[in-house]
Amino acid sequence: MNLIRVSKGHYLPLEGRPATDLDVLPKPSRVAVLPERIPFVKPKLMVKEADAVSIGTPLFHDKRHPRATFLSPGGGVVEAIEFGPRRVIRKIVIRLAETETAAAFPRFAEGDLRQTDRGTLVEALLDGGLWPLLRALPYRDYPDPETEPPAIIVTLADDEPFKPDPAVYLAGRQDLFGYGMQVLARLAPQVFVLAPPNGGGPLQAVDTWITHTVSGPYPALDPGVFVYHTRRSPADNRAWFVSGQDVLLIAALLRDGRYPTERIVALGGPAAGRRRHAAVRMGAPLKPLADLGGEASVRCIVGGVLRGFTGEADGYFGYFETALNLVPAGDHREFMALVRPGYRKATFSRAFLSVLNRDTMPMDCNLHGELRPCVACNACSRVCPVEILPQLTYKSLLADDIEEALAHGLLDCVECGLCSYVCPAKIELCDHLTRAKRRYYQEQTAA
Ligand code: SF4
Ligand code: SF4
Repeated sequence: MNLIRVSKGHYLPLEGRPATDLDVLPKPSRVAVLPERIPFVKPKLMVKEADAVSIGTPLFHDKRHPRATFLSPGGGVVEAIEFGPRRVIRKIVIRLAETETAAAFPRFAEGDLRQTDRGTLVEALLDGGLWPLLRALPYRDYPDPETEPPAIIVTLADDEPFKPDPAVYLAGRQDLFGYGMQVLARLAPQVFVLAPPNGGGPLQAVDTWITHTVSGPYPALDPGVFVYHTRRSPADNRAWFVSGQDVLLIAALLRDGRYPTERIVALGGPAAGRRRHAAVRMGAPLKPLADLGGEASVRCIVGGVLRGFTGEADGYFGYFETALNLVPAGDHREFMALVRPGYRKATFSRAFLSVLNRDTMPMDCNLHGELRPCVACNACSRVCPVEILPQLTYKSLLADDIEEALAHGLLDCVECGLCSYVCPAKIELCDHLTRAKRRYYQEQTAA
């Protein structure tokens, strides 16, 4: 096992970590799939309202790769298909039947995996709706099924606050994880498994698969950071990655021949009543977890606190999201903020006494200031884990000079959000860089 030490990044001492208690939520009355939350996908509907569907019925495919289908996580009736501006498909809502039926998929016995042709497994993942759980660096789109990566990277923990703890989702499923690893080994010549040091518990039970322990501040465990520190040739930049929990879903599909519908999600954030983990249906409504009792000044962040998106309290989990964080909107003005010592203020700046405080700190969504020009403080460069100079890359993009941005390392950006978090000028650097990366990718693939 190799040890990688990542020095750049930032420890986020935020309050609101979910406990490792696991609740199993009752079956919801509805589930939804949110095509607009799946980056790059151009959905083509395969159902219409009032159609009856089973668990595993294709709902839409991606026009770019028509074999890549997205399946229904529930059996019942398509209750609504909601469109946004320019007919973007926002939401497909399924009203669940009391007794659900499920589509059957091919099953692969563990002993046969070594002899199974790679193409057969790719087909099974495409037909089984889980191919898009694999994603390719540097753009983080799901990979073209016709391609083969130099390696697949499995991340067994996500150090972004607050994502599901592998100790919870792996507990009792180590064998399933081992099966999933054998599947990945048929898809790529190398599989790397990253874990934090001293994982303990269920992580120890899968440590025969762990190839690297990675220590360091957020986002040390990001696959893009791993590639940045270990690559030996430009081809390594095209590695694929998948989360540990998604390895379990892939394994469950191929081993059992059923579309797996259960996910472990984390409920965290300072405004969450009982912070915990929960086993929920894929595409489950947020409401049973995010019951705010009419509290309007709390924001529901679906996904981690730096990379997630703001969801409606009556919204649903997306295809990739496994966390819900309830964070106070912070829409108040702090009285005499400038003269307060700030002993409990989560900040990168050393201007507050919190620099002496090793405890976790409250957070809210308030920017505590307004957008202003860059003051060349260099904070963004000091935290960037892949040593881009975010402020210069951003300025190149403002000048519409993509070549210059690429020369600064735009494609190495792991979209971690830290540069935006620390910027005292409140510049949304990460958003600008991510959008530019995506535009560049779309231009390249359209060419
Ligand atoms: S430039 Fe990218 S990788 Fe660097 S801190 Fe910003 S978001 Fe993270
Ligand atoms: S952190 Fe913000 S203000 Fe400071 S150098 Fe970077 S972009 Fe400029």
